[in-house]
Amino acid sequence: MPNIETLKRLSDLFDVSLHALLGAPRQWICQCCGMPLEESILSQEPDGTPNVAYCQWCYTGGKFVYETQEALIDFLSHHLAHPQWPPEQVRAHLAQLLPQLDHWRDRGEE
Ligand SMILES: [Zn+2]
Repeated sequence: MPNIETLKRLSDLFDVSLHALLGAPRQWICQCCGMPLEESILSQEPDGTPNVAYCQWCYTGGKFVYETQEALIDFLSHHLAHPQWPPEQVRAHLAQLLPQLDHWRDRGEE
């Protein structure tokens, strides 16, 4: 598996999309919030190169939007909840999911 930097260079060099290069061998998810990543919602570095690790809502202008898991969970539990999936269950799901993602794993516990 080539690293992301290599993929970006290949993508630029041959002018093909990252997803075409990857051939979708696995589901790519945002390493901050866990959302499945489509090319259209990838974040970008300030110079315009795509960052395939994060969605555009978690990482924008070279900065992460959420300082802590709690801040992200507060935001998402509000927005993802619906009658069949109450906010407490969303929170419980996220509290289990987020620590496994690279962005939060690197930081350790607050
Ligand atoms: Zn995200």
